[in-house]
Amino acid sequence: MTSSSSPTTVYRAKAIHTMDAANPRPAAVAVADGRITAVGDVAELASLGGATVDDRFADHVITPGFVEAHCHTFGGGLWQFTYCGYFDRWGPDGRHWPGCRTLDAVLDRLREAAAELADPTEPLIAWGLDPIYFAGERLVAVHLDQVSTERPIFVLHASIHLATVNTAMMQADNIGPDTLMDGVPKDGSGNPIGELQEPAAMGLAITGASRLFGSILSEQALANFGLLARNAGVTTMTDLGSTSLVRDDVVTKLETAINAESFPARVSVFHNPGGVIGSLADEVALVLERRSRSTDKLRLGNVKFVLDGSIQGFTARLNPPGYLGDRPNGLWLVPPEQVAERLQAFHDAGLLVHVHCNGDQAVDVFLDAAETVLAANPRADHRHTVQHCQLTTRAQYERIKALELCVNLFANHTYYWGDQHMSTTVGPERAATMNAAATALELGIPLSIHSDSPVTPLSPLRVVSSAVNRATATGHVLGPDERINVTEAMTAATIGAAYQLKMDDEVGSLAVGKRADFAVLDDDPFGGEPEALADIGVWGTVLGGVAQPAQ
Ligand SMILES: [Zn+2]
Repeated sequence: MTSSSSPTTVYRAKAIHTMDAANPRPAAVAVADGRITAVGDVAELASLGGATVDDRFADHVITPGFVEAHCHTFGGGLWQFTYCGYFDRWGPDGRHWPGCRTLDAVLDRLREAAAELADPTEPLIAWGLDPIYFAGERLVAVHLDQVSTERPIFVLHASIHLATVNTAMMQADNIGPDTLMDGVPKDGSGNPIGELQEPAAMGLAITGASRLFGSILSEQALANFGLLARNAGVTTMTDLGSTSLVRDDVVTKLETAINAESFPARVSVFHNPGGVIGSLADEVALVLERRSRSTDKLRLGNVKFVLDGSIQGFTARLNPPGYLGDRPNGLWLVPPEQVAERLQAFHDAGLLVHVHCNGDQAVDVFLDAAETVLAANPRADHRHTVQHCQLTTRAQYERIKALELCVNLFANHTYYWGDQHMSTTVGPERAATMNAAATALELGIPLSIHSDSPVTPLSPLRVVSSAVNRATATGHVLGPDERINVTEAMTAATIGAAYQLKMDDEVGSLAVGKRADFAVLDDDPFGGEPEALADIGVWGTVLGGVAQPAQ
């Protein structure tokens, strides 16, 4: 029922896909007070009391607003710095940044950026570097020294798990032969080469890291994050997860930015107890307190752990035969023997836990922990989720199903690193089984797919394309048996993702009573060639009934 005090807007469109089985293809959607009040025929909805028909999307396609269940606010923060990645990207302001296809192009990009900094000692921060694309040559400090021997330079890799710094940065922060830490590789004479692997090592370069990580939650960063979402058709997204929720000022900053009417998306910020503040009981209490501050736009109260690193950075933990070429195994970010205890603390408190497992050895450790914890305290509808889950075997998927876990697959890896996984990380056989969406669906495991933005661009249509086509950047179809169809992929990117955030009662499909969150697209993802999915234009979004045109 619509009350006479709340006007109803009836949106019609070239096509509407609700992703709701009860009424999958209505001609119109009626909205009042930010919620969907009816779906059906235009004439029927127009006859609702006080309804007006809005034709602005008559030439567009409406789907549920996309739900990105694994990205990082960080993606907004990075656009304050210089992009030097391999692939073209578009900034939150719509600016096109061409990819840097050679190491020389990276150095040129850094020189241009350095020239724009007035103070010759101001650190230069850049991001998106993808060394795996520069086979045979590893970018190390001596290369960055060609840009400057005085200005500290910090270049964050595309994986976010590594950074490369120049000699000036190492000198400024006393990183040298005496530095003893995992993740600081050295040359034959015992000098660090300038690569810093995983957060603890990156933190040694405090001159760069503090500048970078200190501004990732600035007002500008959060505004950028919202604009990236709107430009990509995303209405609900995540910060998966933040180690900063321990700080009151950060929570206040998030509340101010995201609860503001002008912020064009809902955000679920997961707590990452990476820097444990005290006992696990303290951590649990913190998450419960934060949860009580949730609003319709800012969600708090879920938990994320990171067990291992990234496959393309060779820091993920793999079972035998491991990486190609006798490379050493990756790094544990949580000691395996502590995983069950940590999971148990949050599980017993009734909280939702998502766990980053890139390699199959990390998946084994998590499944063992989940089995122990769930045997001791079975909990219906926990929805604990394996994040990335990239190298998971069929036997592991069987255990995931038995433990009633969900999976959120890093579908975009096929496009962005599929060729490298075949040639360099794990070889063609295992590469073909990565991000096995068809296997997950065959076993009935709740599925979502993600970008891990800023690791890859925030673009659900690109993610959908990756899962449907499984085409690498060079056009090779990697593991054709694991392709899923457009309906399955669109489901995973909308209601499937909402389910894993426990927000499926509110968002993820277009149904009466749910929030009026739409993606407004130029073309129909269900109607065209699957190869064209990633190129469909995005008009913008509607969030809670308010139109948010893209830039
Ligand atoms: Zn991530």
